[in-house]
Amino acid sequence: KDEVNIISGALELRRKTVAEVMTKIEDVFMLDYEAVLDFETITEIMKSGYSRIPVYEGNRQNIVTMLYIKDLAFVDPDDNTPLKTLCQFYQNPCNFVFEDVTLDVMFKIFKEGNKGHMAFVSRVNTEGEGDPFYETIGIITLEDVIEELIQSEIVDE
Ligand code: ADP
Repeated sequence: KDEVNIISGALELRRKTVAEVMTKIEDVFMLDYEAVLDFETITEIMKSGYSRIPVYEGNRQNIVTMLYIKDLAFVDPDDNTPLKTLCQFYQNPCNFVFEDVTLDVMFKIFKEGNKGHMAFVSRVNTEGEGDPFYETIGIITLEDVIEELIQSEIVDE
């Protein structure tokens, strides 16, 4: 039964796109580049339970970098360190993919491993009067792809 599920899941990977299984940007826990790492903010980060936090500048569609929870190891909440300082120090790379990338391709990118196990899903916004522009519409992680492969939810620890 499990094997059948995985085989049909594997075949589905070529038909599904990242946009279909991503976590939508409005549901993503993010931080403002201008934020200060005071006690309140650090508590909020810890409560969120996520190990990677996208950082945006200006608006939530404009992601500029990513914070790993482990980057906070040497941060003292009493120092009120600007998030900016930490971001400039670590400069964690971000991986962007287009919304129409299929899950088999996404899986290969994650497997190669040089770009981490989270990617930002982007699209070209052609709505409205102005010039088209890139916007980030969600995030996708290796876990999201594997859930499609095994066709069941992974319960996080
Ligand atoms: P983590 O290691 O932080 O638990 P996973 O890669 O295991 O993250 O992903 C678990 C689920 O949580 C996935 O569906 C992923 O899209 C989502 N996710 C990961 N990071 C965030 C975040 N910062 N905000 C909202 N959802 C997230």
